Amino acid sequence: MPELPEIQAHAERLTGRFGGRVLERFTPLTFTALKTATPSAEDAAGRPLDGIGRHGKFLLLGFGDRTFVVHLMQGGRLVPDDKQSARPRNGIARWTFDDGSALLLTEAGRERKAGVWMVAGDPVGQDPVAGLGIDADVVSRDELAGLLAGTNMRLHGFLRDQHGIAGVGRMLANEICHRARLSPFASTSKLDDDQVDRLHAAIGACIADALAHERTLDAMSKAADRPGAVHRRKGAECPVCGDTVRAVEYNAYEVDYCPTCQTGGKVLADNTTSKFLK
Ligand SMILES: [Zn+2]
Repeated sequence: MPELPEIQAHAERLTGRFGGRVLERFTPLTFTALKTATPSAEDAAGRPLDGIGRHGKFLLLGFGDRTFVVHLMQGGRLVPDDKQSARPRNGIARWTFDDGSALLLTEAGRERKAGVWMVAGDPVGQDPVAGLGIDADVVSRDELAGLLAGTNMRLHGFLRDQHGIAGVGRMLANEICHRARLSPFASTSKLDDDQVDRLHAAIGACIADALAHERTLDAMSKAADRPGAVHRRKGAECPVCGDTVRAVEYNAYEVDYCPTCQTGGKVLADNTTSKFLK
């Protein structure tokens, strides 16, 4: 799933190409594409695209006081639609502009979770972004400390949760824990000041690195091509210390970490209920 850096760079890319173009019409291509009935999606027709912003992992297509909120989920992509075929492959929705160009939302795979919401006024605080926390790229050290102290979660879960901080997914969570030299299973409420400092710095550095990489590309990267130290590198060498990267595997994903860098050398049992997961 694309995370904050991929979404942010893509929003910038599309703003550069489509910003200022006047919307002619919005066309849902599936029955479930548009998640809202009111306000009408037709409200945005005739208005210029102010730009494409981002909150958490959502894209915000702003047309004055009307905003299309788009969530790509796992396999969704928002791409220039050069062909504009009547029934585009994996097509979910289309925005057609008055110069004849168009943007197409597609979703690969069978999940069918990507979607579009139309919102009036500031989308912040409204569905579907109502429950989102502070964007991970702007959260301050003290805000982060407050969020960590106010909950009792495993660090990796907290980072991915979206309610405390927003925009971090599985890859960034793995990379941030490694960069901060913290166990992904550390309890958020027990982190000391030095650990919070390291975590805050790691969040900023991991996002900055990924964003710099993503900004060099013409289109959103594939997950397998995103550079990282531990994510999906089980069995490989840690680039920091040379230890072997380990994984705790779940049904849908894995938590990857370096024992030397993060857990005092301890290899965690590959079982979520293990008493060794501390
Ligand atoms: Zn290491």
